[in-house]
Amino acid sequence: MTQTARPISSLSLLAAIARRPETLLFLPLLPLAAFWAWGETALIAAAFGLPGAIALLFAIGPARPRTPERDGTTGLLLRDSVAAALDEGLAVRAASGLSPACIVLAIDEADMLARRHGHADFAQLLRETAARIAATVRQADQVARLDGACFAIALAPVQRADLESVLQIASRLQSAVEDNVILEAAEVQISASVGFCTADRAPGGDAERSAGMALLTAAEAAMEDATHNGPGAIRAYTRELADKRADLSCLRADLAPALDNGDMRAFFQPQISTETGAITGFEVLVRWQHPVRGLLTPDAFLPLLQMAGLAERLGERMLYQAMGAMRRWEEAGHRIDSIGVNFSAEELRNPRLPDRIAWELDRFGLAPDRLSIEVLESVVAGDADDVVVKTISRLAEMGCRIDLDDFGTGHASIASIRRFAVSRIKIDRSFVSGMADDREQQRIVAAILSMAERLGLETIAEGVETGAEHALLAQLGCGHVQGYALAHPMPETETLAWIERHKARAQAPLLLERRAGE
Ligand code: C2E
Ligand code: CA
Ligand code: CA
Repeated sequence: MTQTARPISSLSLLAAIARRPETLLFLPLLPLAAFWAWGETALIAAAFGLPGAIALLFAIGPARPRTPERDGTTGLLLRDSVAAALDEGLAVRAASGLSPACIVLAIDEADMLARRHGHADFAQLLRETAARIAATVRQADQVARLDGACFAIALAPVQRADLESVLQIASRLQSAVEDNVILEAAEVQISASVGFCTADRAPGGDAERSAGMALLTAAEAAMEDATHNGPGAIRAYTRELADKRADLSCLRADLAPALDNGDMRAFFQPQISTETGAITGFEVLVRWQHPVRGLLTPDAFLPLLQMAGLAERLGERMLYQAMGAMRRWEEAGHRIDSIGVNFSAEELRNPRLPDRIAWELDRFGLAPDRLSIEVLESVVAGDADDVVVKTISRLAEMGCRIDLDDFGTGHASIASIRRFAVSRIKIDRSFVSGMADDREQQRIVAAILSMAERLGLETIAEGVETGAEHALLAQLGCGHVQGYALAHPMPETETLAWIERHKARAQAPLLLERRAGE
């Protein structure tokens, strides 16, 4: 890698001169010269002072290069080495016209892979990935392992380090890493998310971090953005991404207080029986009444909240509000069969969850079958880890209902539907929306419904937006519907009035029929 032109201080210059062998040759002459010029006192001062001065100059001279630290698993360099390499590249940029760039690559779903394959195999996976990266880059490039399953590559300065050419290198790296990996006990197919930043787009250093570290952090930010758009996405660092991150970091700071002060609250969307038209349940959906940004839907903050480790606290709040609403509806004379609460994979990984739920149900005097646990199909598909299987099984044993959310998008096998004791499938909105005008979609929905019937599962369709969709679903035998055609999610304060209006509407045809028969 090209050497840096660092500014040299006059002391460092003196130290460098003092270290030269020819300087040491002339050393005995200096006290003599001092005596000749200034007399005996100067001779004594030079004889005693010079060795000390030279020792000092050696001490302040440039430090011996330290052996850089390496990662114990892969043998790769660490973050600081990549930042230092980028610093060097950036320092000579103006003079040489050559630019460095940084690429950060992360293995997708690394936590899940580690849990599934165990520590030894996962370490082997990391070593194989490290070897593939090292074999793909040039010798002058520096590769380091960051936290977890992330790798950083400092691309040595070149003439053309623009968006297009760095993107090419990024996708070459990604393809190299994504080839199947053969481990001790299994062959795994992995995908990787890649982010990169070129020198001309880098945010620049500041008082806290060098320009190289800023370039590395920017590539990491791009990688994080890629993981949200992944699996297997590649993203470049841009000004908009920087703005988005600044915006998100403001929002992040508001999350915990919002959970505590009640700004993050449950909204309720009704579910209706297609057979009787009665309200059979409500789904609880979180909303954030932000003091400045207004009412926020989960897509604006849920990933952030989960990353901040607040998923469990949100779950507690939603469960509490759900149970409270069920009691209050009952006290007002409206018995609702069940309430659906969404649980993320993260929450279901908590073995204490069933006890907490049992305690809440007990506190509100509600039987367990009044609660529907909504679990995404993607969570139960494939081999969900042991803890998730146990948690869901315990909840089912307790008598809670298990709703398989977004059904049709997650490829759950019939075996896993059985294993997780699913009571109902929620047909994903993508199958429902526009089905009234699409024969093919109707056939798919009909196939899902007949499969559910054969397996003895109840069904609900979500995202029902029109009366035509509602009617068609009822005709095809779908048990329940939920969607804007019936009602948007609403705050609890509006639910009682809605329930009463709905009951009045449902009774109106009966009254008319009765009157006609009088
Ligand atoms: P989901 O569980 O699939 O919830 C249904 C989503 O569809 C909700 O979006 C709902 O507002 C929306 N929706 C309902 N009817 C219609 C319709 O007719 N048309 C259209 N286009 N959309 C409809 P929302 O509230 O934005 O929630 C998005 C996702 O966030 C939820 O998807 C769920 O996965 C997650 N979520 C919401 N609340 C919670 C929560 O308390 N905890 C957890 N872990 N996840 C939550
Ligand atoms: Ca749901
Ligand atoms: Ca859903």
